[in-house]
Amino acid sequence: MQHYSVFSLARNAMKHHEDWHKAWRSPPLKEEYEVVIVGGGGHGLATAYYLAKEHNITDVAVIEAGWLGGGNTGRNTITVRSNYLYPESAEFYDFSLKQYEILSRELNFNVMLRQAGLLRLSHSHHDVEMSRRAINAMHMNGVDAEWLTREEIIELAPGVNVSEEARFPIFGGMNQPRGGVARHDGVAWGYARAADDRGVDIIQQCAVTGFEKAADGSHLVVTQKGTVKAKKVALCVAGHSSVLAEMAGFRLPVTSMALQACVSEPLKPFIDTVVLSPDAGVYVSQSDKGEVVMGGGLDLYPSYAQRGNVHTLENIVAGIVEIFPKLRRVKLMRQWAGIVDIVYDSSPIIGHTPVKNMYVNCGFGTGGFKAIPAGGYTLAHTIATDQPHKLTEAFGLNRFETGAFIDEMGAAGIAH
Ligand SMILES: Cc1cc2nc3c(=O)[nH]c(=O)nc-3n(C[C@H](O)[C@H](O)[C@H](O)COP(=O)(O)OP(=O)(O)OC[C@H]3O[C@@H](n4cnc5c(N)ncnc54)[C@H](O)[C@@H]3O)c2cc1C
Repeated sequence: MQHYSVFSLARNAMKHHEDWHKAWRSPPLKEEYEVVIVGGGGHGLATAYYLAKEHNITDVAVIEAGWLGGGNTGRNTITVRSNYLYPESAEFYDFSLKQYEILSRELNFNVMLRQAGLLRLSHSHHDVEMSRRAINAMHMNGVDAEWLTREEIIELAPGVNVSEEARFPIFGGMNQPRGGVARHDGVAWGYARAADDRGVDIIQQCAVTGFEKAADGSHLVVTQKGTVKAKKVALCVAGHSSVLAEMAGFRLPVTSMALQACVSEPLKPFIDTVVLSPDAGVYVSQSDKGEVVMGGGLDLYPSYAQRGNVHTLENIVAGIVEIFPKLRRVKLMRQWAGIVDIVYDSSPIIGHTPVKNMYVNCGFGTGGFKAIPAGGYTLAHTIATDQPHKLTEAFGLNRFETGAFIDEMGAAGIAH
């Protein structure tokens, strides 16, 4: 592993920044690997890292169509939390949050985790009741949660519209103190560097275009840079999961839709916590650069068009101005979208597919950034042992046959 001294910045500056040690190699695609992971987002890279670290499987390629972290991992609004309703989800997402809490040290890469809380506002008596139930459920699942009064919210989230005349009056809110944000690129780059250090080949600009079978039963993964043989294949391609599944000859109960977000010009720090209003359909945090990061709901129709549009932007901005009136004259800088994979019960699919020795990680929809450590850790276990990990037994594809859904639609409140 490369260690950087405090003097390396100055030393490399003197050398015109020409000889920096590369954070990861750009190796050629070999003809054969033990495991090929399709998709170089957070989940694919974390799967490769934990395969190497926990299972000593290092003959691994991560094959990425674009640049690593250039999919949803680099497009999301970076919220991390584990405020889910059902025990299965609470266990899985809290395991993930606990991994985030040690990730910078584990990867020797600062993922800039900031646990300043995630506040979900309640705008009606009905929602107060439901939020209190959610808090009880979280406590029973061993996850931190607290109810905040209006006065406590004013202190935690200055600038929130607490007027009694407001369109969305605030009755209180549910806070997860350990919730917060982490830097998305940092997570992708940290896992990439650590996986590369352990011998994993990361192949960028190389789309997978099909799957075939070798005479000995191995998979042949057809890519833009040639065909590669692999004993095991994992699909970690988020919004394109059903496209890859179709190439492999099976179907997934997944719908691909665009999710959009936008940021403002940088402002002086005014808020630490993430604030979410399910009724206004928006959530807000402030980045380390000072930009106000704003997200809303899904587009209303399936699509692979990875771009923003005016009507979603209008909805987000209208909601933000209701909740934070003082932001009404702030300029917007950027708007973008990512293609996310939506499953009926808003829970992920992790594990086996109908194709032997092919595994999938998908269905995280609007909320899989927070799940990257747990998704990678558990999928690596399944690839290595051919058994579901105990944290993901309930999240297999078979639940669409048995009907044992884990409906987390209500817990999320809104995409994040
Ligand atoms: C606007 C927005 C806001 C979000 N906000 C949050 C949030 O606040 N908190 C949260 O937890 N989650 C959030 N999410 C969801 C989160 O970003 C995703 O669930 C998560 O990043 C998925 O990670 P991944 O590694 O599975 O997918 P990705 O990061 O999308 O990686 C998949 C990769 O597969 C590659 N690929 C696709 N097809 C092929 C092919 N044929 N061959 C090779 N490679 C291929 C893609 O190029 C891509 O890089 C948000 C998403 C969006 C779009």
